[in-house]
Amino acid sequence: MSNTSFSRNLLTWSQTFDRQMPWKDRTDAYAIWLSEIILQQTRVAQGMPYYIRFIEAFPTVFDLAKADEQEVMRLWQGLGYYSRARNLHFTAQQVADEFGGIFPDNYDGLLKLKGIGPYTAAAIASFAFGLPHAVVDGNVFRVLARYSANFIDIGTPAGKKEFTQLANQLLDKKQPGRFNQAIMDLGALICKPANPSCKECPLQKKCQAFSQDLITQLPVKEKKIKRKTRYFYYFVFRKDGDYFIQKRTKKDIWHSLYEFPNIESKTVLQEKAIKLAFQQKYPKIKLKIKNRVGPITQLLTHQKIIGQFFEIPLVDSKNLNLPATPIEKLKDFPFPKMVLSFFDHMPKKKKASRQ
Ligand code: SF4
Repeated sequence: MSNTSFSRNLLTWSQTFDRQMPWKDRTDAYAIWLSEIILQQTRVAQGMPYYIRFIEAFPTVFDLAKADEQEVMRLWQGLGYYSRARNLHFTAQQVADEFGGIFPDNYDGLLKLKGIGPYTAAAIASFAFGLPHAVVDGNVFRVLARYSANFIDIGTPAGKKEFTQLANQLLDKKQPGRFNQAIMDLGALICKPANPSCKECPLQKKCQAFSQDLITQLPVKEKKIKRKTRYFYYFVFRKDGDYFIQKRTKKDIWHSLYEFPNIESKTVLQEKAIKLAFQQKYPKIKLKIKNRVGPITQLLTHQKIIGQFFEIPLVDSKNLNLPATPIEKLKDFPFPKMVLSFFDHMPKKKKASRQ
């Protein structure tokens, strides 16, 4: 497989359009690192506003390092994968404190930082420092699997290894950043998962999937994810304009985020069972449900969460052992998407004061 014609055709094509992204053509490692962490498993359209919010709130790695963790989590809220936000904060502190605010300028050094895997290390190394490391994301896997008509499963370690080797073999060593950006753009804009625009593709002449009519069969990715279902029953205690929230502190999903007090079950609970569990947990509180919201479903990579919310007005909050949070202060806390979905169901007047 000729790497020169592949690279030449790809780079010539990349000059014919301009896919505007705020981090594109930046060479500072901080901005590139930030954008790559945000974009891991997130579509560009979804990640863009988050990147803008972060870079505006924390223009330098020092600003992010000294930020309050709650503020970092709040800005991340809705993106999921919250361990990434914690790693982001940790790494910013490490770079600021141990490296004087300067990211390592080589692949191996970058790989040692928390939250930076081979993909992100290759992206920073090539975009910021012009080093010859191929960036291999889902878009690149798809382009390469089709171009070479390779039926190895892209989700397996063997598949990842093989396509990473091929990407490095095809990489334009003189312009690695431009090459990496171009192949990712090609995957996103032309070699799309469904109905790729082969007529406009600069690689079409040598594309094996195109010439052998195999496009719909590639890439191969077996779906093996089995999700565990968890049921959360939230008690939205309310007293006048105050709500009662708690921080998730256990080693579990949504660590460090806030939520309403709740009970959890492995199976769906009928109302009688929910009331019984409530009375066991809060024997001194009279259960009077004012409003119900749900069930709301949220899919995580390995879990399916089904949440139901019960709004409970309180006459007295002393048996709750939780601080009262005025409704207008709720916006200062980071919440998982599940709880944010509940806020979306709140009556307009209440919701407005949360924003
Ligand atoms: Fe993808 Fe079609 Fe281009 Fe082949 S010719 S790389 S299938 S867009």
